[in-house]
Amino acid sequence: MANSTNKPVKIGLVGLGKIAVDQHIPAIRANPNLELVAGCSPHARPEGVVGYSDMQAMLAAHPEIEALAICTPPQVRHRIAKEALAAGRHVFLEKPPAATLGEAEALRDFAAERGVTLLASWHSRFAPAVGATRDWIAQRALKSIHVVWKENVRQWHPGQAWIFAPGGMGVFDPGINALSILTRIVGDTVVVKKADLHIPVNCDAPIEVGMDMVTEGGVPVRADFDFLQENLQTWSIFVEAEDGGKLALSMGGTILEIDGKPVMQEPEREYPGLYAHFHELIASGASDADFSPLRIVADAFMLGKRIAAPAYVE
Ligand code: NAP
Repeated sequence: MANSTNKPVKIGLVGLGKIAVDQHIPAIRANPNLELVAGCSPHARPEGVVGYSDMQAMLAAHPEIEALAICTPPQVRHRIAKEALAAGRHVFLEKPPAATLGEAEALRDFAAERGVTLLASWHSRFAPAVGATRDWIAQRALKSIHVVWKENVRQWHPGQAWIFAPGGMGVFDPGINALSILTRIVGDTVVVKKADLHIPVNCDAPIEVGMDMVTEGGVPVRADFDFLQENLQTWSIFVEAEDGGKLALSMGGTILEIDGKPVMQEPEREYPGLYAHFHELIASGASDADFSPLRIVADAFMLGKRIAAPAYVE
């Protein structure tokens, strides 16, 4: 069901927490092809947004809403997205697209059946240096890849108890951003071979992960994720080519160095890019639902060794 008029697409937000306020609201407002109509959330009421306590109340008051962005924690995303698709609305899923692969695939099939757009968003893929990294890799045989994603959960996720609950994914919540870049820059399937999942004794999701993967072409990929990193925060991917070339993509994909020399440093503009993509998908009646980063996380949980870590206290 493409939007063939030139009028802005009317959007409703579901879940008005940190990411909705920091990124979705400003990105929608800055895009002339989109119009933020209202939002809903059990408690949060950001200033300047017409608010409701749940999605059905919002849609009853604003039947003109054509598309919904689901910015809740992942555990409730499938139920809400299914209701949104059933109501004939286009859907933008925050990452991760659902709590399980089964839920994500069911949403993709249901969106196709309903003839509406589904975007399984991966914001890190819109970081400025991701395209140049993909091009550099496409021209070379690779020797190895090392992903290092280390941040301080207390700094970036204060009060977000859902993150260590079942389905919250723990350190895979940021780590899946690295995996979304990895699966975009490597034009090959990446499979998990070994994963060490360090899970605090009072939590249900890992706080630290060390993972060995390999591309189907045989390139080893190591990933180290840590949620207790203090001081310097690291969101980097290091690639080594067979010809000796070295690439470093850092600060979440905003800085690119090749053979030790800086070649790109640009400000982060992920959400404006994501919303432009969502609008294009709606205008052309298409969907974009790639679950390969979620599959790697699912495989890590399936294959991983669980190691008890000290209790986590916020
Ligand atoms: P958050 O600050 O905890 O916000 C989540 C919001 O969802 C809360 O405001 C909560 O409501 C609301 N909510 C919970 N259940 C709901 C329901 N049934 N219906 C409607 N709203 C509901 O979390 P966040 O950091 O924004 O993260 C949300 C998602 O965005 C996660 O999947 C995360 O991975 C992703 N994300 C986060 C970041 C980041 O930097 N934080 C970056 C990119 C993507 P109330 O507060 O009203 O109770």
